[in-house]
Amino acid sequence: ISKTRDERPIVLPPHTSESAFETALRELRELLGEEWVKCNDVALVDGDYHAVPLSHDAYHILEQDDLVPSAVCWPKDTEQVATVVKWANRHKIPIWPISIGRNLGYGGSAPRVRGSVVVDLGRRMNRVLDVSEQNAACLVEPGVQYITLYEHLQEIGLGNKLWIDVPDLPGGSVMGNALDRGVGYTPHGDHWSQHCGLEVVLPDGDIVRTGMGALPGTDCWQLFPYGFGPYHDGIFSQSNYGIVTKMGVWLMPNPGGIRPFMATFPREEDLAAAVDALRPLMVQKIVGNVPCLRLGVQDATMYHKKTEFPLRENGLIDRKKAQTMIDKLGTGAWVFYGALYGPDEITAPKFDYIKKALSVVSGAKFYERKDVPSNHYLNDYAKFTAGIPTWRELDRMQFIPNASHLFFAPISAIDGKDALRQSHMCRNRMEEYGFDYLGTFFIGHRAMHHVISFMYDKTDPEMKKRALSCIRALIEDAAKIGVGEYRTHLALQDQVAGTYNWGDGATMRLNEKLKDALDPNGILQPGRSGIWPKRYRGQGWEL
Ligand code: FAD
Repeated sequence: ISKTRDERPIVLPPHTSESAFETALRELRELLGEEWVKCNDVALVDGDYHAVPLSHDAYHILEQDDLVPSAVCWPKDTEQVATVVKWANRHKIPIWPISIGRNLGYGGSAPRVRGSVVVDLGRRMNRVLDVSEQNAACLVEPGVQYITLYEHLQEIGLGNKLWIDVPDLPGGSVMGNALDRGVGYTPHGDHWSQHCGLEVVLPDGDIVRTGMGALPGTDCWQLFPYGFGPYHDGIFSQSNYGIVTKMGVWLMPNPGGIRPFMATFPREEDLAAAVDALRPLMVQKIVGNVPCLRLGVQDATMYHKKTEFPLRENGLIDRKKAQTMIDKLGTGAWVFYGALYGPDEITAPKFDYIKKALSVVSGAKFYERKDVPSNHYLNDYAKFTAGIPTWRELDRMQFIPNASHLFFAPISAIDGKDALRQSHMCRNRMEEYGFDYLGTFFIGHRAMHHVISFMYDKTDPEMKKRALSCIRALIEDAAKIGVGEYRTHLALQDQVAGTYNWGDGATMRLNEKLKDALDPNGILQPGRSGIWPKRYRGQGWEL
C-alpha cells in the first residue's frame, strides 16, 4: 500500500487484512495499469461543486471520515469494468461505481461501506458514442456530463436542432443522474423515463445489453426500450445489481419556440388552491414540462444571504417581515415557474388559458421575461427549460457559511390538501429542529417531487446532528401518513427502505432474492437503497 504521504491511514475493506489488501491492490494495478489505481490516503478536503473529492462525501452529514473508500480505480472500458468486478469477487472486496460523483446532498462520491473501492467510470469512459439527428437520440458513456453533452451537440452542429434536459447544475453525469432517478426542467425532466437501452456489467462480470440491445445488428437499441421478454432496466436504477457502462438517452427536437413564465401567489395558504388549479393543466399536458412551485423564501435565497433576512429570536427567518423583501423580488409567498413549447401562435393562447385557470387564486400575478430585471431567476429558468446549462444555482450556496445541502424529498399527489399537509408537516418539524423550511414542488403529470433543502454548516457537528435527526423524524412522520421519499442520502437509505414495507416487507424480500442471485459474494455496492447482501445482512451495518 503506497503511503505516498503520511496524511491519513487507509480504511481497509471489511474482513480484509492489510496484507490481503496489499496483494489485491497489486493485482488490480497489474490489471488496469499502475497509474489507474490510487489508495485513499489523502487529506480529506471538501472542495466545492467544481472540485468534488473522491476521498469522501463532500457534503458529509456523518463524520467527515465516515463514508470513505480504501482506494479508487479508473477502468477504461466495459471489459475493464468486468475485470474489476471479477477482481472484487476473487478478493471479496466491496466496490462502488460512480459516473462523476457529484451526487451532492445524497452522498457525493462516497461508498456506503467504509473501505470499499470506488470505481470511477467517468474519468476515462466519457464519450458520446452516437447521436441520431433524425431520431433525436444518443448513446453515452458514464462520464458524459450535461455540460459536455451540450457542448458536444454544439460542436457537431446539432445544438440548435437537438436540446438536452439539464438539472439545476450541469456538472453531473447524464447517466449517474438518470440511474438515481434525478429530475430536470423540460418535457424530458424525468430523466429515467427518457433513457432507452443499457449496457450493464453484472456482479459476476457478465455483460448484458437491455431491450433491443440484446439483438445483434439492431438499429433500434435507442429507439424501442422493451425488446422481447422481461423488461430489466428498472432493476438497474437506485440499485446494486449492475454497473451501467452505456445508456441511450432521448433528446428533445427544437420545438420552434419557448415561452417561460412565472405566476406568483400572495399567501402561503394559496398553495392548496394553486396545486388544485395546476392538476388538470398537468394531467392534460397543457403545461408540458416539469414546472415547479417554489416557496417565496426559497426563491429569495438565490439573491440574499441568511443574515440579510429579518430573523426571529430563534434564528429562523421571520416570514411575515421577510415578505416585504420577497415582494421586492416580485416573488409572492409561492412562485410557479413553467414553460410552454412551440411557436408563438401555439404558446400565446395556451398562456392565456393558463392565466385564466390559475387566476382562481386571488391576487395571482403573471410574468414573462420582458417583465423582470436581467438578474431575475426567470432568465436562468428560460435557459434551463431550453436545455442550456447555467451555474446560477450555486448562488444559493452563499446563504450560510460552509453551506451544504441535505435533501428531504417526499412524493406528493398533485392535490392541494396533500401538498399543504406536507408543507405544514415539514415546516413544523424543521422549525422544531431549528431549520428554515425551504421547499419546492417539482410537478410531474401525475405526482410531485417535494424537494426540501436542509442547508447546514458542515463544519458545525451539532448542526449536522440536528439535520440528520430532523430528517429521520420527518421520514417517520411521512410514513405514518403514507408518504414516502423518491431518493435519499446514503445515511438514510436503510430507514427509507424500511418504510416501503407493504406485505410484511415483500419489496425488500424480492430485492434480497435478486441480490443473492446476482451477487452471491456481495461485492457490488452493499447497502445501496438499503439492500444488503447475505454476508452483510443482520451484522449491524444498517444505519
Ligand atoms: P453519480 O454520483 O456518479 O451517481 C449517482 C448514483 O448512481 C450513485 O449512487 C452511484 O453509485 C450510482 N451510479 C452512478 N453511475 C453508475 C453506473 N454507471 N452504474 C451503476 N451505478 C451508478 N439532482 C437532480 O436530479 N436534479 C437537480 O436539479 C439537482 N439539483 C441540485 C442542486 C444542488 C445545489 C445540489 C447540491 C445537488 C443537486 N442535485 C440535483 C443532486 C445531484 O447533484 C445530481 O443529481 C447529480 O447529477 C448526481 O451526481 P452524478 O450525476 O455525478 O452521479
